Parts: sequence; C-alpha cells; structure tokens
Amino acid sequence: MHELVIVEGILETVIPEVQKHNVSKILKIRLKIGDLSGVVPRCVHEYFGIAAAGTIAEGAKLEIESIPVRIRCSTCGYDGVLGKVRYLCPSCGGTDFRITQGKEYYIENVEAE
Ligand SMILES: [Zn+2]
Repeated sequence: MHELVIVEGILETVIPEVQKHNVSKILKIRLKIGDLSGVVPRCVHEYFGIAAAGTIAEGAKLEIESIPVRIRCSTCGYDGVLGKVRYLCPSCGGTDFRITQGKEYYIENVEAE
C-alpha cells in the first residue's frame, strides 16, 4: 500500500499546482522513479487510477521513466552507472562507494488543459 500513499502525495502536489494555472483537466503526468527508490512502477500505475478517480487527474495518462542507479567509488574514483551486481563497483570491484542517484523519485512534468 506504500505506492498508494506515494500516488496520493503526487496528486496532492500536482493538483493545487496546476489549478493555479486555470486548468480543468490533467492530461498527462510524467514521473521519474529511481531503481533503488523502492517504488514499484507497476503498483504506481495500479493505484493511480484509484487515487485519481473523482479528481481533475481522472483519466490522465501516467508515464513512468526509471532512473538508473549511479555511484561514486572512493577506491578508484569511478563515477557512473552501477552494474548488474548491485553491491560492487563495476570498475574496481570495490564496495566502498556512495550512491549518487537512483534512490529518488519525482514529478518530471505535467500536461494539463
Ligand atoms: Zn571502484
């Protein structure tokens, strides 16, 4: 149910924002979701219909793009996308790195009329 809370949060952010611009309907919401954010895009899609029902976002198209996980390695200085092995630096095989991208999720843009 964690995604329902997220979807409601997104709508609570988006709806008052677009209403400032005199719109009556949200057509499309584009989200970016990090691969390590813990948010499951499939669940977001599923709950979006429920959360949007009866709001100006009802029937809006939801697009979700994933954000790859990036790291900065303290051992070799690698700064880039994390490989398939999620706990090793793809460059030196070390484990001493910091995740710089991929834990976040945000609203990329909204189309409304
Ligand atoms: Zn490294």
